[in-house]
Amino acid sequence: MTGELAINRGVTEEVLGGDYLFAEVARRVAEHTAARGEKPIDLGIGDVTLPLPACVAEALATASAGMGSVEGFRGYPPADGYDFLRRAISELYAEEGARVPAGDIFISDGAKTDLALIPHLFGRCTVYLADPTYPAYRDVNLAAGNGIRYLRADIGNDLLPLPDAACGRGIYYICTPGNPTGAAYDRARLAVWVEHALATGSLIVCDTAYSAFIPEDDTEHPRTIYSVPGAEKCALEVGSFSKSAGFTGLRCGFTVLPSELRIDGRPLRDIWRRYKAITSNGVAYPVQCAAAAALTPQGRAGCRENIKYYLGNARILRAALAARGIGSAPGEMSPYVWFRCPDGLSSWEFFDRLLDRAGIIGTPGSGFGAAGEGCFRFSAFCSRPAAMEAARRLREM
Ligand code: PLP
Repeated sequence: MTGELAINRGVTEEVLGGDYLFAEVARRVAEHTAARGEKPIDLGIGDVTLPLPACVAEALATASAGMGSVEGFRGYPPADGYDFLRRAISELYAEEGARVPAGDIFISDGAKTDLALIPHLFGRCTVYLADPTYPAYRDVNLAAGNGIRYLRADIGNDLLPLPDAACGRGIYYICTPGNPTGAAYDRARLAVWVEHALATGSLIVCDTAYSAFIPEDDTEHPRTIYSVPGAEKCALEVGSFSKSAGFTGLRCGFTVLPSELRIDGRPLRDIWRRYKAITSNGVAYPVQCAAAAALTPQGRAGCRENIKYYLGNARILRAALAARGIGSAPGEMSPYVWFRCPDGLSSWEFFDRLLDRAGIIGTPGSGFGAAGEGCFRFSAFCSRPAAMEAARRLREM
């Protein structure tokens, strides 16, 4: 036997580096709080604050209590998820005019878990990410040693990059509506992505974690990539109950792997199942019952109320910025408010000014990618009183 146990410094320290963004935010906030003795308003973290809709909490409690009885006890859940939840999600897709059979849906303990699995399915390859974007896409691919090409999201393309002539075969990540910008792809632009992926033999990873924020009567912005014909041959879709139903603490999500989705002739879902089995034994029965309850008419009404509340917060924050002459990106379908920092300040300079003069925490846009430098993100997942107080302070700042 040779070798010794050593930390993989190459990946953990050199490639990934430290969690600079949120560690640095926490450090500066702790310093501020110690000096001022008051807690700032937190518009930084993208975590929900409202309680679960009553029928969802009830389903969770009933299934949990059942685990203490002979009839209600459940052992390991089915690897792909319980059929009742897969069917409920499939019906949701049908409402969008997308044919996604229950058998194509794989339940997970959240979108992030599945996003982290994706690079394991392939050899080294090129991945294409929007800049700015949700940092987990970048980190999991850096850790896998993949080459990353960034597609700049800016005013010129409505913050919605499309493939250019240099975009070859690879994995394309699309988040719609997007974190951090809030921009959502319309049908025509999504179709451009699908056409490109089919033409180049590429895979699209479509993240719809925020699709529930698209208003019910909006037919222009698809809630799923499968409403574009041909997507079933080139796209997998990652969904989450975190922001749509308040499951950030409970943990439930899913990935759609259509039977038609093949890479080099092999069904991707077969490889997915194999890898998934290495890392997970499924999602708790009470959690899946709660997720299914969130998809009943009553559950959906409750979730929509919560979403309306967060969108109301976002409107309040956007109006306060506008009153100061700061325009934000058109993100009416998103819990995030994305804007350029005033006075040509860098993202971190504005972070400090906001904390110092208004006692408000936000997230520096540079943390989401180089193109986010000079921009800033507010999360509207706060309470209404917090949004209103933040708005008051912004107006007076
Ligand atoms: N995808 C995006 C774009 C996100 O912003 C987040 C969380 O903030 C996630 C996925 C993670 O979702 P989950 O809580 O289901 O892991």
